[in-house]
Amino acid sequence: SLSDRLTATFKNLRGKGRLTEADVDATVREIRRALLDADVAVPVVREFAARIRERALGAEVAAALNPSQQIVKIVNEELVEILGGETRRIRLAKTGPTIIMLAGLQGAGKTTLAGKLAKWLKAQGHSPILVACDLQRPNAVTQLQIVGQRAGVSVFAPHPGTTSEHDVPTGDPVAVARAGVEEARQKLHDVVIVDTAGRLGVDAEMMDQARRIRQAIIPNEVLFVIDSMIGQDAVNTAVAFDEGVNFTGVVLSKLDGDARGGAALSVASVTGKPVMFASTGENLDDFELFHPDRMASRILDMGDVLTLIEQAEKAWDKEEAARMAKKFADQEDFTLDDFLAQMQQIRNMGSMKKMLMMMPGAQNIRQQLEQFDEREIDRVEAIVRSMTPHERVAPKIINGSRRARIARGSGVHVSEVNGLLERFAQAQKMMKKLAQGGGMPGMPGMPG
Ligand code: GDP
Ligand code: MG
Repeated sequence: SLSDRLTATFKNLRGKGRLTEADVDATVREIRRALLDADVAVPVVREFAARIRERALGAEVAAALNPSQQIVKIVNEELVEILGGETRRIRLAKTGPTIIMLAGLQGAGKTTLAGKLAKWLKAQGHSPILVACDLQRPNAVTQLQIVGQRAGVSVFAPHPGTTSEHDVPTGDPVAVARAGVEEARQKLHDVVIVDTAGRLGVDAEMMDQARRIRQAIIPNEVLFVIDSMIGQDAVNTAVAFDEGVNFTGVVLSKLDGDARGGAALSVASVTGKPVMFASTGENLDDFELFHPDRMASRILDMGDVLTLIEQAEKAWDKEEAARMAKKFADQEDFTLDDFLAQMQQIRNMGSMKKMLMMMPGAQNIRQQLEQFDEREIDRVEAIVRSMTPHERVAPKIINGSRRARIARGSGVHVSEVNGLLERFAQAQKMMKKLAQGGGMPGMPGMPG
């Protein structure tokens, strides 16, 4: 994953001061590779990488982060911004029904989305109606009717079995769209979802039809549905639809597959339109609001490492960090007091177990983590508090009789004191390494 690659890139780097140009270039190379792996369009990758490079070169490395975390943070911020920042909600009409038109290539997932959206809106107390304007494919109308039935909403279609009492002109999707909106007004549906026809490729006639539907019904939202597996074609398709129907938002479909979501970045980047929803399966419930931050993590394949970074930044006491940094610089020994202070920092970050579970690679140590008991931190605290100040600074003097005394004082078994001293020795080694290489603070003390 990208985070592994970045960790490797920075293994020998000191975690202090400004990033050098060579460091940044090495990292940006990895980011470029990761984005291409995620199927982000080449020109988008190029532009993105240039921007990251510029920002990273000017960045000061924050105390709580090592350089790779710092760059990952910048990458994440940029990704989230391109993807639209905050999750964007549907804009509801102030008066009359809210009209939502769907556009996209054939097979993109429009008809399925119509049902998902209807079900979702219905659950929120709306009363949607679906309008079948795909009159090109023989079964398209029937498909929408089935979808509507499953979602428990009305479907307006130029077909026997339609809910309309109007005289609906068959064969003309623009007229059907108009009649559908009229039907919604009369039957007091507050949302109209207009399903349209697509083609396998971008096609002038289809685009013209979509444009005419748009002009006829003046939708509040035009959602461009795109298959997230589309890969490098995402840019051309998105640009064509943006020019053709000037969509207002993007829906990423089939995100349940192997797609890493690069299409989201490509489309958002070249059109500047927000991604609003994600479709994640064939069932009507496989549908969610799109969260730019989650997608950024998915694109970078980082688990929730960003959440970790954020929490580390928040919890890591700046003064404590400065004191530690000075200590390392002075080559002073890491003491049991420091060890305890770190354990307390970890506690500040929230549930240690939950945190560690979010880290990439955590599955390897999942079993150990599940056995980990947070009361362990309490026991460590009790044990360290039973030591004399001298013992805490020079644990080597803690012989057998001292161990027995400490165990009695803290109400634990001698073996637990031994275990703690062993872990401390490991942590001491780790802290020396961190001092040389930079890295995630606050991790020592984990029982192995
Ligand atoms: P349309 O041509 O744009 O209307 O696309 P459809 O809604 O008919 O979907 C085309 C195919 O993709 C159908 O077989 C759907 O079941 C399937 N499909 C749609 N959305 C998703 C999704 O989010 N995940 C998966 N796995 N399949 C989907
Ligand atoms: Mg369809």
